[in-house]
Amino acid sequence: MKVLETKNLKKYYGENENLVKAIDNNSISINKGEFVCIVGKSGSGKSTLLHMLGGLDRPTSGNVYIDNKDIFSLKDDELAIFRRRKIGFIFQYYNLIPSLNVWENIVLPIGLDSKKVDVDFIEDILKNLGLETKKDSLPNTLSGGQQQRVAIARALAFKPSIILADEPTGNLDSKTSDEVITLLKNMVKRYSQTLVMITHDETIAQMGERVIIIEDGKVLKEGALNE
Ligand code: ADP
Ligand code: MG
Repeated sequence: MKVLETKNLKKYYGENENLVKAIDNNSISINKGEFVCIVGKSGSGKSTLLHMLGGLDRPTSGNVYIDNKDIFSLKDDELAIFRRRKIGFIFQYYNLIPSLNVWENIVLPIGLDSKKVDVDFIEDILKNLGLETKKDSLPNTLSGGQQQRVAIARALAFKPSIILADEPTGNLDSKTSDEVITLLKNMVKRYSQTLVMITHDETIAQMGERVIIIEDGKVLKEGALNE
């Protein structure tokens, strides 16, 4: 069952001699529960694609469907609500709020949506991510790997059906990267979520079930890395 689909998606920046086709006629399809890695050189359009997939930015033309809904047919405020409920984002920089402790950082987005915090669910996430003793800690007392795990917990706390991650291990050493991605992979399986992750780390990309290779804004190849 498809959860995420793009049709003839384009995102162009600039014009005339400065025209950049960041995403150029891109049509991909991702099934519910899949773990897909997006790989490609720097500047190939990976982040632009991920932003469109999550409705963070509008395309020049083309469509993105989430659960068969054409998300860019929504007005900005409707799109913001849709995105907040459906999608969890994880970025290279953890974007934790320094003055809030781990627990507060994780529940903050839920409070912003004036939803009730599912305490048992968040305790479960923290346990699985090995953060149960860190609830009261401030971000600057944690290692990079721990901070990224907090960012993962924050993304999961909303029970989104889709997790979009942009180079989530970009600031971590390879051992920590493997640990964090293994945890993330287990978590999305546990909660039957779909994971789309940008990485330029081949070892990490091998952990995905499918790889989409992007070059100059185009999908070069879809399939297993060693096909
Ligand atoms: P990647 O994530 O694969 O490194 P990006 O999606 O960030 O690539 O960028 C793809 C191309 O689009 C690059 O040539 C980049 O310079 C260009 N680009 C991205 N964002 C903007 C922007 N806001 N304005 C102009 N050009 C942009
Ligand atoms: Mg990028």
